[in-house]
Amino acid sequence: YGKIKGGNNIFRYNDTMSKKYNELLLVESDLRKAFQLNEFRLHYQPKVDVDTNKIVGVEALIRWNHGKKGNIPPSLFIPVAEEIGMIQDIDEWVLEEACNQFNRWVSSGVEPIMIAVNVSATELQQADFLDRVRNIIEKTGMDPNYLEIEITENSILYNTEECIDRMRQLREMGISLAIDDFGTGYSSMGYLPKFPINFLKIDQSFIRDICNETGNEEIIKAMIQLAHTFGLKVVAEGVEQETALSFIKNEKCDYYQGYFFSRPLEAEVLEQQLLLN
Ligand code: C2E
Ligand code: MG
Ligand code: MG
Ligand code: MG
Repeated sequence: YGKIKGGNNIFRYNDTMSKKYNELLLVESDLRKAFQLNEFRLHYQPKVDVDTNKIVGVEALIRWNHGKKGNIPPSLFIPVAEEIGMIQDIDEWVLEEACNQFNRWVSSGVEPIMIAVNVSATELQQADFLDRVRNIIEKTGMDPNYLEIEITENSILYNTEECIDRMRQLREMGISLAIDDFGTGYSSMGYLPKFPINFLKIDQSFIRDICNETGNEEIIKAMIQLAHTFGLKVVAEGVEQETALSFIKNEKCDYYQGYFFSRPLEAEVLEQQLLLN
């Protein structure tokens, strides 16, 4: 292992990573400038009711338009931001911007809908996470009953009791909670009845293969039933095809997101659709 000082953090790299090392270092120094240069935006993807095809909510997804390199996907820079200790700043910026956007939509006459933000797996481990969320809600005046926080299963691998307690406090504030990328984490499903969550989002890797020879239909059915047993609503991620939609509809999945209905959109573009919704 090699070690490189980066801010207060030690960035660890191994042989495979060192091939990407230059690229990562560039991303790192550029990430630090991205805030000053105002290069982050949010796009919003509709979450749709399977039965009525109405938009019931949106998910905020960060976009980084790098001045020289163009769009850099979150799958590339979020892990780097986690490594260099910038993820908290990013998640806070996302939360505040999403709350402000909710308020802007409502003042434009849009019916209030749920707005979901993703937070990094490390956030629930942070003692000050709740305070940071509370501050942003106060600062923006956002109604927390319309706010949803998406966490992954891996957020709760460690310090589980503490995490459950933080989740409870978020719920007490009126915030809804979703488990994102369900089915891909390292934890067992045994936690489901213990966790104060509202939604399970079935990972798109399962949905993508519906009606392929490698299909996961039986697993998807079981996930939906399991979720419903515990009183949770189910969201299918990554619905691209009509066949996938009719399958999940048949299995009583509650909501879906995916290119079939809409890609993530700029706030102004989505606003037109929300006004007609
Ligand atoms: P996620 O939260 O599971 O978000 C869903 C991803 O699937 C998004 O990719 C979305 O654009 C994409 N997607 C939606 N519908 C379809 C579809 O029909 N087909 C396909 N192939 N893809 C679809 P995106 O925006 O590139 O984000 C990737 C991941 O990066 C997110 O997965 C989330 O884990 C993370 N991320 C994105 N924004 C944020 C953020 O603001 N904060 C944090 N901490 N993580 C974020
Ligand atoms: Mg998500
Ligand atoms: Mg997901
Ligand atoms: Mg994902």
